[in-house]
Amino acid sequence: MEYQRFLTQGFKPFNPLELAKETEKIVTKKGEEGLERKYTNFYSVPVYRGIATGYAVGCCLRCIYCWSDWSRDFPEKFGNFYSPKQVAQNLFKAAEEGIIYSNYWRKLITKVNKLRLSGCEPTIGKEHLLAILEFVENSKYPLFILETNGIILGSDKDYVKRLAEFKDKIYVRVSFKAATQKALPKEPVQLENFINSLLKL
Ligand code: SF4
Repeated sequence: MEYQRFLTQGFKPFNPLELAKETEKIVTKKGEEGLERKYTNFYSVPVYRGIATGYAVGCCLRCIYCWSDWSRDFPEKFGNFYSPKQVAQNLFKAAEEGIIYSNYWRKLITKVNKLRLSGCEPTIGKEHLLAILEFVENSKYPLFILETNGIILGSDKDYVKRLAEFKDKIYVRVSFKAATQKALPKEPVQLENFINSLLKL
């Protein structure tokens, strides 16, 4: 299939799970220290009262209101590959450094002890994410926030089960993606499966 970029008028509907697979081929690769994934940057920001954030490249949706940059639509052109260990180390370093791009926020938030993956869709690259969580589990940091559209988790019960193994530290923030209520999954079974998978977290 031709890789789905940003949507234009009259676009053909696409399957997000297929797009997730295509995106995964672009944004992940095998490395000596496990599955690597692409990120554009790592730094601390004021949201959640201060949180070290890794910005993942590539998503399986094309929301019109998305605030991700062009790394969503052209994942092959943006970011660098990092091993799970490097991602964890970069998050820890960003937390240690605190907010460095704004004196205003640095004065207000003097300590950062939360970690997060955000940007595009961080659940693309299952083994990569689970390996990062192993490092977080063994770190001094008490909270890891995973921001996700839930599409991949809704289709992979094993993924949800394995994420739940880190329940003492992980907080999964799912944002249901649809412009209107009517646009959410229409088949009751499909919606029920989706919600049930998420409730297991
Ligand atoms: S799920 Fe999030 S990152 Fe992906 S297109 Fe929608 S708003 Fe952007």
